[in-house]
Amino acid sequence: MSLPGAAKAELLSLAFATSSSAITISRLRDGLYLDVNQGFAEMSGWPIDQVIGRTALECDIWYDAAERRRFVDALKAEGRVKNILCRFRRRNGEVFHGHMSGSLFEVNGETHIIAITQDVEEIIQAQRRVEGSEARLRNLLSHIPHGIRELDLGGFILLENPAHAALFGYEPGELVGRRALDLLADRAKAAEIQHVIDTYDIATGPRTGGYEAEMTRKDGSVIHVRVDWSIQRPAAPDEPPTAISVLTDLTPTVRAQEELRRSVDELTRSNAELERYAYIAAHDLREPIRTVTSYAQLLRRRLTSAGQLTGETGELFEYLESGAYRMSAVVDDLLAYSRLQSRAAPFEPVDLNTVLTTVRNNLARVIYESNAEVICETPLPTVSADQAQMVQLIQNLVSNALRYQPEAPGHTPRVTLTARREVAGWAIAVEDNGIGIEERYFDRIFQLFQRLHSQREFPGTGVGLAICQRVAERHGGAIRVESEVGRGSTFTVHLPDVPPEDKTAQAEG
Ligand code: ADP
Repeated sequence: MSLPGAAKAELLSLAFATSSSAITISRLRDGLYLDVNQGFAEMSGWPIDQVIGRTALECDIWYDAAERRRFVDALKAEGRVKNILCRFRRRNGEVFHGHMSGSLFEVNGETHIIAITQDVEEIIQAQRRVEGSEARLRNLLSHIPHGIRELDLGGFILLENPAHAALFGYEPGELVGRRALDLLADRAKAAEIQHVIDTYDIATGPRTGGYEAEMTRKDGSVIHVRVDWSIQRPAAPDEPPTAISVLTDLTPTVRAQEELRRSVDELTRSNAELERYAYIAAHDLREPIRTVTSYAQLLRRRLTSAGQLTGETGELFEYLESGAYRMSAVVDDLLAYSRLQSRAAPFEPVDLNTVLTTVRNNLARVIYESNAEVICETPLPTVSADQAQMVQLIQNLVSNALRYQPEAPGHTPRVTLTARREVAGWAIAVEDNGIGIEERYFDRIFQLFQRLHSQREFPGTGVGLAICQRVAERHGGAIRVESEVGRGSTFTVHLPDVPPEDKTAQAEG
């Protein structure tokens, strides 16, 4: 059914009058406006009666005259055009974008244009804002040093940033459409992750996760990568969810760790070899030293009974015997040092009061002869330790404290033991009123064979404090000294409540 002509004309003129689009009827020849609607007046700001009878160029409605020419040329060529984007100027000077459509028609042999324009300025501005924020986002993504990619839930790459492509040695965007798991060098790991993807349930599955894997670059080289992924809710309700992964190249760190592990292994091996060598040397030297000592004694006895041991020969024998004695002391201490490792016992609760009693008994003779006092006024704690090594540690410290004393008449050597609670352990201090140590030697005295005195002044081997340090370190602790020459020294051993896991060998090699 069609409308009668009069009704149709009436409706058309109603549409003309009420449309919010700008509708103009103008002469093709010079652009003179024959009629414009209210929509035009509102859009352009020009009152209808000030436009009719003037041309668009006179009213300066076109922002760019060339755009009008193009519109007219297209109309001439096609007879009608649709939605050409043009720019116009409102009466107040404001420029806006419009979508312009038009047709040519004849009236009395004169060609006219009917044009309809929609104001799309707001849409264009919104589009620009979206484009601007998209560009900023792209810019941001391209500056992040981590590889970032978006995947569909089947594991195919939808989007990548330049760092992601560069990580694998590809051109930006080259990996889009590829399966992310195909980059994995470890096929077993790839299968494991594929299984997770295949069985993933969007309703109940985890939203974030991560893994580390070896991956292959375009040139075939292998890199170590950490992947942290998270499942994203779809941006629009009809879109499927996606996964965003952030990739961190761990290759330099992994290489450095491997290098470090290799060096530590090498050092541990060569250390163990050295210690074994020291142990064997010390062990095998005991026998010949014993032989020298016993034959010297035998010879001295024979010469004495034959009446041939003159004063000078007797002195030579003393040198020989004291040399052999020192040699055997060094060898014994060296063996004790080696055995810290080979005869180490597992850690167990050790009452340091019992340890001190053992030490007092072992040193009873020295304590008695030097008329010394060994004081411990507060009870000592029970620590997790190797009992025998605790005896060695405390005994070496107390024995040094008794030994490094001035030879002054009326001087009484006094050794004081105290225990102080620390954050997660104990500090055990052994304080003496002895000769003291210069500060510049505070580190050196803990090294093997480092001594500050001649044998004549104070006999010793230089091994005792090295043993103390090693025992403290094996228990996850440390030993320090504070001292003032002429006033005395304090050696403090710090022992943690929980010693580190002990990997020391149990059997002697
Ligand atoms: P040794 O006592 O057999 O020489 P140590 O390793 O036990 O070996 O000690 C190293 C050096 O540290 C000693 O030679 C001595 O000079 C110094 N020393 C150790 N303990 C004390 C102390 N309590 N007072 C002064 N000096 C000390």
